[in-house]
Amino acid sequence: MVVNAGPMTEEAEHNADQRDPARLIPSSVQSPSSVRGACPSLAAPMHTGDGLLVRFRPSDPALSIQQIRQLAEAAACHGNGLLEITSRGSLQIRGLREETLSALEADIAAAGIVPDSGIVIEIPSLSGLDPTELSSAGVMAENLKRAIAGMPLPALAPKLSIVIDGRDRIGLGSLPADIRLTATRREGGDPEWIVAVGGASRMDRRLAILPNERAISATVEILRLLAEIGPRARGRDLSIDRLRPSFPDIEMIEMTDPGRAVASPIGLHDLGSGNLVFGLRLPYGQIHSAELIAFLDRAEEWGVYEVRPALEHCLMLVGMRPEALASAKLAAANFGFSMSTDDPRNHIHTCAGTRGCASAFYDTKAFAARLLTASGLLDGSTSIHLSGCSKGCARPARASLAFVGAPMGYGLVVNGSASDAPVAYIHENDLKSALDDLSRLVLNEKGAGESVDACLTRLGSDYIASALRQG
Ligand code: SF4
Repeated sequence: MVVNAGPMTEEAEHNADQRDPARLIPSSVQSPSSVRGACPSLAAPMHTGDGLLVRFRPSDPALSIQQIRQLAEAAACHGNGLLEITSRGSLQIRGLREETLSALEADIAAAGIVPDSGIVIEIPSLSGLDPTELSSAGVMAENLKRAIAGMPLPALAPKLSIVIDGRDRIGLGSLPADIRLTATRREGGDPEWIVAVGGASRMDRRLAILPNERAISATVEILRLLAEIGPRARGRDLSIDRLRPSFPDIEMIEMTDPGRAVASPIGLHDLGSGNLVFGLRLPYGQIHSAELIAFLDRAEEWGVYEVRPALEHCLMLVGMRPEALASAKLAAANFGFSMSTDDPRNHIHTCAGTRGCASAFYDTKAFAARLLTASGLLDGSTSIHLSGCSKGCARPARASLAFVGAPMGYGLVVNGSASDAPVAYIHENDLKSALDDLSRLVLNEKGAGESVDACLTRLGSDYIASALRQG
């Protein structure tokens, strides 16, 4: 039965409270309020329903097979064995305890992996490898880190991010950033960098087009301006008036996008000269250490010598021998990796669920398997978030549909995030019929050429809730 969303019952509130991770937070890790302002890291892990979570980005994204194997072993030894790659390509280890953190840190160091610290600087996973890269994002990032290290900076916003996009075949144009450097080349000239602030690449405010060293100085200047505003300032907070004295040409910079076809990291990338990179999306963004280690053992047989975490929960296998491809594809399928951008699983975002999190109200992975049979909902336009509880760890952003675990059933959120109020609750016994009803509704209501996501948005949550109640 689909029921109206209403205020939580006393019992539900009690149950939710019992499962509220905030009740268990030790004083040395992030509190719920600090979670809103900062990302979890090795120094400041975050409490989740399955223990502590650490997120980090190796300062050298190219990891040898041995390094990633050691990392997986450390995740199994000190955490619950689950290893994740986030949508932005960071690594996450779950299920840690306060007393295991220092041992994990020591094992990461012993593997020769140096987690990035300080301001987050993101570069494309194929930087330095892909011959189509216009200018090396990796080299720029190193130079920028050195420049920032020598700069006395007051506190900056904890989630501040700098994206450096050398414009290789994948790039980082889809990632929002506070400061963005995008490689460009004016006719007949050397590569330069478009310096921009705020938002996603199409929404950026472009400030200047500069050669390497001056682009770094400009970035340092933007950080200084942000620090002037205060410790929570983001790129979008920089007004033209504040920027103009440092960037006098700001209003003359052409606002057009550098424009290019950008590939998904998922799938095969032929870098030329027999250099193949195989991008595999982790099944629902995570993998158990034992499975990863078993897969890496096979990968070595195929010639893979290096792996790189990448956007969209991907692991890039570098060095694949062409003749090993058939065998690699078979193994990847058996391990549950997604190898194609058409895979409907790419559009389902699940958290650990009851298989790995004490706060979860349902098995998100089992739900995902059921969802795949409700084919009418997954046309490539929709994002469906399966969240074990309203914390929404797997996807802070909105989704076309979110099914949020709650004591009274699956809370259905339309066009929102897991923390939004559900429009209806679906009881476990009614899940199959509710998914069928949703698929049928979309099929009947969708206009010619309209995507499922656009259709759901047009119908709106009230209409969808009432249609579900009528069955
Ligand atoms: S969203 Fe999922 S992983 Fe996060 S706390 Fe809730 S149940 Fe656990």
